[in-house]
Amino acid sequence: SQCCWASRLRDLLCKFGSGFVWFQKSVGNDKAFLALLKERLCDDFKQEWTTALNSSERFSLYASFKSNLLTENYFDFVKIKCFRDALIKLRMGVLPLNANRFRYAHENALKILCNFCKNEIEDEIHFICFCPLYKEFRLKYIQSYLQNDHSFTLLMQCQEKIPCQNLAAFAFHACKKRDIYMLLK
Ligand SMILES: [Zn+2]
Repeated sequence: SQCCWASRLRDLLCKFGSGFVWFQKSVGNDKAFLALLKERLCDDFKQEWTTALNSSERFSLYASFKSNLLTENYFDFVKIKCFRDALIKLRMGVLPLNANRFRYAHENALKILCNFCKNEIEDEIHFICFCPLYKEFRLKYIQSYLQNDHSFTLLMQCQEKIPCQNLAAFAFHACKKRDIYMLLK
């Protein structure tokens, strides 16, 4: 209703320290006011987004490499849809890795272990950096970016074309290999 949006607008103006606008029924300089309001809205949204992300256990992986609210370059760089989809799933923590599939199955901690390695947790870092099941694809696509303990984060944060494309290709081919392994084992 009109009353509802009007009171929301009033609350918003007060929140941003512009409550006087509501009570004076005038904004003064229209353009300057709108520019300021837009900036405040954007700042407020970014602040809430950052707080929500950093306080979320579910998205702790995403928070570990995502720190700004910009569109990632890989959307432009990775043109092959199935590669891009695999990269998006990797970043969102929804690849069918055991640490994701059994995220809430606390009753059986063994379920999150890698089916191939047996004694390692199958999470994204294991999948990207270590699991020997994907050694051929790691060598072909991403080995040169994996040099130290921070490599996983740096690779996930990378905004350059070739590493993004290679990471996406790795994610796609490794997932396919995982599917086949799980079918045949
Ligand atoms: Zn493994």
